[in-house]
Amino acid sequence: MNTTILGYPRIGARRELKFATEDYWAGRIDAAQLETTAAHLRRSVWTELRDAGLGAIPSNTFSLYDQVLDTTVMIDAVPARYRALTGLDRYFALARGTAELPPLEMTKWFDTNYHYIVPELTAGTRFRLADGSAAKPVAEYLEARRLGIETRPVLVGPLTYLLLAKPAPGSPDGFDPLDLLDPLVEVYAELLERLAGAGASWVQLDEPVLARDLRSRDVEALGRAYRRLGGLASRPKILLATYFGAVAPEALREIAATDVEGVALDLVAGPGNLEALASVGGLPRKKVVAGVVDGRNVWRADPARVRSAYAVVLGLADTVELSTSCSLLHVPVDLGTETALDPAVRARLAFARQKVAELVALAAGLDDAEWPDAPKAGHREPVRFDARRSDREARLAAQRERLGLPPLTTTTIGSFPQTAEIRAARADLRAGRIGEPAYVAAMRAEIARVIRLQEDLGLDVLVHGEPERNDMVQYFAEQLDGYAATEAGWVQSYGTRCVRPPILYGDITRPRPMTVTWAAYAQSLTPKPVKGMLTGPVTMLAWSFVRDDQPLAETARQVALALRDEIADLEAAGIAIIQVDEPALRELLPLRAADHDDYLAWAVGAFRLATSGAADATQIHTHMCYSEFGEILSPIADLDADVTSIEAARSHMELLPYLQAAGYANGIGPGVYDIHSPRVPTSEEMAANLRTALQAVPADRLWVNPDCGLKTRAYPETLAALANMVAAAAAERA
Ligand code: GLN
Ligand code: ZN
Repeated sequence: MNTTILGYPRIGARRELKFATEDYWAGRIDAAQLETTAAHLRRSVWTELRDAGLGAIPSNTFSLYDQVLDTTVMIDAVPARYRALTGLDRYFALARGTAELPPLEMTKWFDTNYHYIVPELTAGTRFRLADGSAAKPVAEYLEARRLGIETRPVLVGPLTYLLLAKPAPGSPDGFDPLDLLDPLVEVYAELLERLAGAGASWVQLDEPVLARDLRSRDVEALGRAYRRLGGLASRPKILLATYFGAVAPEALREIAATDVEGVALDLVAGPGNLEALASVGGLPRKKVVAGVVDGRNVWRADPARVRSAYAVVLGLADTVELSTSCSLLHVPVDLGTETALDPAVRARLAFARQKVAELVALAAGLDDAEWPDAPKAGHREPVRFDARRSDREARLAAQRERLGLPPLTTTTIGSFPQTAEIRAARADLRAGRIGEPAYVAAMRAEIARVIRLQEDLGLDVLVHGEPERNDMVQYFAEQLDGYAATEAGWVQSYGTRCVRPPILYGDITRPRPMTVTWAAYAQSLTPKPVKGMLTGPVTMLAWSFVRDDQPLAETARQVALALRDEIADLEAAGIAIIQVDEPALRELLPLRAADHDDYLAWAVGAFRLATSGAADATQIHTHMCYSEFGEILSPIADLDADVTSIEAARSHMELLPYLQAAGYANGIGPGVYDIHSPRVPTSEEMAANLRTALQAVPADRLWVNPDCGLKTRAYPETLAALANMVAAAAAERA
């Protein structure tokens, strides 16, 4: 039984790549030094995989920033405006921009928390293999080979590349990047020939886009591309890798009809692949790489599940190889460096390094009767609730009476700039340099300062500023039972940005209130209402590693019940407005439309379960980031929050009429200025945004707030911009 993985983390167990890259950007090291670190990391991954006994080792899974960007550079699809630059300057300009040039757009890689750099194509884009025989996949293949390690280069497949690309701004209406398929496939053909010439016996072409809904022209393009590549006289064997879900039978049928030698199927996120495989009569002349070990989550594999999936695939393929479901890019590198985890939790976990060992052990023991079983979590009996508040009119009247807010109420989204002093206090507490009382005193002083600032600015609804929160998910995870934090469980989010998602391993309970003393303290300082600030159930799950032994819906309900108790405690402490942030509601939307309704039902249900215990006179707010709400407009209305704030400044309030049309009739706060840049917009600019918004929303329902993320800004621009915002609201009110 052979084994492989589809990819491996590239950042290094101690985030070496992040630090080297940031040193390079800051001019502390030069390109040669960065390359030394990069080569060291590549070598250590290859040797580690070889020494672990993995059968087939991937290469070209390394990247200085992103594999889609690497592809863009490799095929020379670099937009004209970056072409004056060369080498690494050009590469990082595409990723991060320069003083003169904005970067290419970045967006989420399917439904993961990894982000890729979006290719920008025009009808006139001419692909070519930019570095010929020195192309990155060839170079890395040869580099491994010089170390005596035979590898399988990994490429982003041509269909996925084009379907993830966007037409350059100003492209003619009918232009579809897929129109460029044939010339792109010719570049891949040349690359495959060069890889064969270098000695590669296999190449992996990643086509995760096959887990999405495809148009018939996409399916047709798939067949055309792989018939052409399969028919090349000189090429490595092709492993067409799919992941993140099941492949539609019609796509699998196209693949079956080509000469590609292997197909990787995700049997974790796409159990439907087994039926799809059976429905096309199997792949009797091909190798199936069975993705049985979850590449996206941190749990040890369940051997019984692996064995039964294996047994099914065995009858439907020529040969079977055991693999991870997708690249291990999405999990932390090494559980071995974690020293503080509860042993009972730890026994259930596997990070990238452990997953490789697990695959090798699973393959060796497939026929053994005795397989070690991973320990299981407990299950709490689900609780059922009628998650419904009184109707809108009753709530509105009660809140109007209690709060007496003016039309065009001004507020912010929750955080204020995180100063160096705040970070230092947190670090000092962690390192034991200061005790809890000193830390609390520092945070209270900060809260008092932020309350005073907001009063001076003349804002109507205040926030405490969130100084005590390192991160909006981790802060709550640390206080809920059933969650564990890691010390070094870093995962690449984009470029050098890494996140450390907490691990939701068991039943969730709230041992004690989590935010009440901070909120109550802030409220004690001012007669104006201060918003309580919580993170919603969907976002808590989306930015964590979540137990997979019960439906996500059930876990979301448990988080919701903990929040419901928190809301009751905030109310009891006199907090009249409570915001439950759900920035990830759109992110968790399943890849296939057929799965949307189920997801939205439980996601919306969890929010309502969390918030529906609130009294009529308590105003519930929610907040969502990004402007691409198209698919979730009516679910936003279904959340039934009294006020919803959304990011809208960059999209010029375009969304509002649609939200109205979808039946949303409550308060709405479209961000009136973009906080992603230090530029301070004038109050006239913001007033113009408000007037646009007022065309869709009446003044008594329109709130005035910036887009989210003040914590990433500095004070001078924050104060100047908020002063202009308050002035804009005052002018429009008048
Ligand atoms: N309340 C959070 C803040 O203001 C919301 C963050 C977010 O939208 N991601 O930082
Ligand atoms: Zn936001």
